[in-house]
Formats: sequence, structure tokens, C-alpha cells
Amino acid sequence: MIVAVDEIGNSGIDRAEGIAAEALDETLREAGESDWRAAGEATFEARFDKVAGKILMRARALVRLQTDCKRCLVAMPIELPFEFTVQFSSKPARVEVDARPSSEPKRLRDEVGTGASFDLSAPDEEFFDGKAIDTAEVFREQLLLNLPMGLVCRDDCKGLCPVCGEQLNQRECGCDRRPMDPRWEALRSIKLPPTES
Ligand SMILES: [Zn+2]
Ligand SMILES: [Zn+2]
Repeated sequence: MIVAVDEIGNSGIDRAEGIAAEALDETLREAGESDWRAAGEATFEARFDKVAGKILMRARALVRLQTDCKRCLVAMPIELPFEFTVQFSSKPARVEVDARPSSEPKRLRDEVGTGASFDLSAPDEEFFDGKAIDTAEVFREQLLLNLPMGLVCRDDCKGLCPVCGEQLNQRECGCDRRPMDPRWEALRSIKLPPTES
């Protein structure tokens, strides 16, 4: 969503929007998150307040996604709610600090000032042009930050049989899946002389 600063009165403003599944899929694809697909429209609600010359955004999102169980590869739907707060400051004259050669940033950063409000790496501080806030980028960052890793369909998911690929949650295939003891594995390569009879 795009919110003009002029829209935010002294008492703040609440805004909400839906984010289409196609847009979510594009975000996930561009970020290389190939394990995830959108499973529907996401909802995004935000409150904007003017605080000490900056814009404070408190946001809440609910994203519906689909991913595969890491063990058995079954597709499963995930509801991912997350909340975040971002403080938007008007862009200072120089913000190209991170684009300078590696020997430069320290000095330039010191010129700009080392106060916390100028720490470009702080996730909760963003710059904008002073006129309108576009929430797309912070939403994207927060979505990617909140994607869980290594999800399984259930804690005791048995996964796939490493021998035949059977879904072990559904059927026990009966394959011998005992790992070979490495000490016996070594013995197998030794050729024994024929036993005397
Ligand atoms: Zn599973
Ligand atoms: Zn099997």
C-alpha cells in the first residue's frame, strides 16, 4: 500500500489491503524461496502515526502459503501471521553509504553520524522521500524473515522409505532399512581364504 504523509492526521490513520496470491508468488520466486507457494490472498493491516517527525507504522499480516513436509514431501497449507513495527524517516541527503567501496563506509558513516537513528542496518528503521510511504518493500522483507524452516507435517512424520520411496505415514513397505554397521562394511571387502573341510 502507498500512504501519503498528508493523509496521516494528528490522530493517525488505519489502512488495510489484500495482497494477491500472484504477487506473493512473484515475491517468493524472486527471493529464490522455491519451497513456498501462495495459497490465497494475504491480508495486511497497518496503523500509521506521526511520532517526533517520523512515521511509525505498526503492521499485522496474515499470509496463506503452501509448502512441502521436509520428510515426506506431502504438500501442506500454512497460515503465517506476523506483526512488525517500522519507523520511517525522511531520507537524509546522503544514504549511499553502503554502495561505496569497502574501505570507505566507516568514514562516511561517521560523517553522517553514528546515532542509532542513522544505523542503516537496523531493520526497524527505513527511509522514505518524506511524501509517501510504500509498504511493499518492508512487507516483502518481513514475509521472507518470517518463513519458517524445515517444517514437518507432524512431529512423528516417518518420511519416505530410503530404499523404495514409500510414504511411511501411509504404509509400511517392509524394506530392510537398518543402517549397515561400518565395522561389518569393512569386513565385507576382505577376501577370506576358502575354509578347509
Ligand atoms: Zn511429513
Ligand atoms: Zn521401502
